[in-house]
Amino acid sequence: MTDSSEANRKYIYRRNKLIEHLRSRGIKDEVLLEAMSKVPRHLFVDTALEHRAYEDSALPIGKGQTISQPYTVAAQTELLEVKEGEKVLEIGTGSGYQAAILCEMGAELYSIERHDELYLRARETLRKLGYRVQLKLGDGTKGWSAYAPYDAIVVTAGAPVVPRELISQLKISGRLVIPVGGRDRQKMIRITRISEDAYEEEHLSNFKFVPLVGESGWKTEEPE
Ligand code: SAH
Repeated sequence: MTDSSEANRKYIYRRNKLIEHLRSRGIKDEVLLEAMSKVPRHLFVDTALEHRAYEDSALPIGKGQTISQPYTVAAQTELLEVKEGEKVLEIGTGSGYQAAILCEMGAELYSIERHDELYLRARETLRKLGYRVQLKLGDGTKGWSAYAPYDAIVVTAGAPVVPRELISQLKISGRLVIPVGGRDRQKMIRITRISEDAYEEEHLSNFKFVPLVGESGWKTEEPE
């Protein structure tokens, strides 16, 4: 269905501006930028925030969580180096926005969210837009062994340590991209599985994510 309304044209214009901004901040992956130019981010936030959907900022989605800043989504997804048809696991479905981007890039996507309200809303949004994603409600720090191994795993919440389970669910040459550090600031880490028991670890730039809460994450959402 094409929506040729004035409002939709306005959003397409803003979305293209955002893509130019991401390019100017150094995002180069054309497949990713193309995917981001297609996904209507304004449909992943509350209607009261729709008008801010194409600003390069994180926005609240309820339950104290946020839809990540577009630059963060782009930078993190670029690091995943996803190719068409690859099997990808996302931890932290949130609004479902990053899941939609990964689908647009041709990934076979699995995504886990711990808040039932967000899980249900993301499921509805993705269904309405026609994105086929396998969603699960639960603790993503344990991965999703039923569909393992994965070509890529992306964690969209900040972890205190790298959960061992996630590493073990990577294929050989699979990549895990995860922000690791304190509650206020994390370093993006990319771990590539070189062989059955060898890994390469790269430490990249700093970001700020909401906490990854679970068995191998933080014990609570707020500091105690
Ligand atoms: N990728 C999301 C970003 C959402 S923010 C988007 O595009 O909107 C991170 C999300 O991770 C939050 O919704 C939070 O509830 C969820 N989360 C935190 N810890 C988790 C865990 N252990 N398992 C699954 N989801 C988790």
